[in-house]
Amino acid sequence: MAKDVSRVVTLSNGRPMPRLGFGTWRIADGEPVERAVRAALDLGYRHIDTAAAYGNERGVGQAVRDSRVPRDDVFVTTKVWNADQRSGPAAVRKAFDDSLARLDLGHIDLYLIHWPVKGRYKDTWRVLEEIHATGRARAIGVSNFLPHHLDDLLAGATVVPMVNQVEFHPRLVQRELLAACRRRGIVVEAWSPLMQGKVVQIPELREIAKRHGRTVAQVVLRWNLQHDVVTIPKSANPDRMAENAAIFDFELSAEEMVRIDALDRHERVGPDPDNFNF
Ligand code: NDP
Repeated sequence: MAKDVSRVVTLSNGRPMPRLGFGTWRIADGEPVERAVRAALDLGYRHIDTAAAYGNERGVGQAVRDSRVPRDDVFVTTKVWNADQRSGPAAVRKAFDDSLARLDLGHIDLYLIHWPVKGRYKDTWRVLEEIHATGRARAIGVSNFLPHHLDDLLAGATVVPMVNQVEFHPRLVQRELLAACRRRGIVVEAWSPLMQGKVVQIPELREIAKRHGRTVAQVVLRWNLQHDVVTIPKSANPDRMAENAAIFDFELSAEEMVRIDALDRHERVGPDPDNFNF
């Protein structure tokens, strides 16, 4: 039987996180990101994903402050960049303070280690644990962590990451990673859930979409939700933003879920977390 989903998932710290978020990578700071985030909030999105590396935190914060949506109804994620991790704990503390100042929203809902920088991420995690204890980041987590990174991190951690944001779509299903996170109460969040637009070309998905009178993007995002994976599609186009948000009023059958899972080809649109050099 298909699984019903509510609009929020409860993190291990008891806080609610909206299952649908709005991705902002490659949306320029200032007017472009302000316009996009304003439109997303107007359409009912209550979760915005940014990062220091996207260079658009100021605009994201401005749009949230300008909106009529109360601050506590919006969940804002940002991330510490690799260069700051490489510079050490003091730089990570400063990176957090700088993100907090640029966003200017009082607190950050979720602060993530953007990539598992070898030899550094454990030190970075200790700083995130400190920041979490002050309440300035209400939840902390990681991004692009494979099971072995999680094992390594957890060996010395006091706080278990609440979220792992990873590349996840029908061509990269990451079953082991999902299981490893689930076992530890870590919520999985999908980046590039639409394969940066490429999912629309997959014929099997077109067929399932047609059967439901939906678009391929909606089917894929719904498949995320039914896997208990939080999803953060990006669009700069309000019609597609609305399309991507209309995923709470239909259900995929168990058979359709299995068919979509079977599209896995271990194919990435982004870098391999074991082999990146930026
Ligand atoms: P997505 O998979 O969300 O795809 C975005 C692309 O798909 C855009 O080109 C968009 O075009 C197009 N698109 C959006 N909606 C539709 C639709 N309904 N039908 C057809 N095409 C559509 O890619 P992203 O890489 O942006 O990933 C989402 C978010 O994840 C990022 O914005 C970022 O916040 C986060 N991320 C995190 C990473 C990490 O390392 N932690 C790495 C990469 C991303 P248009 O804008 O014209 O609609």
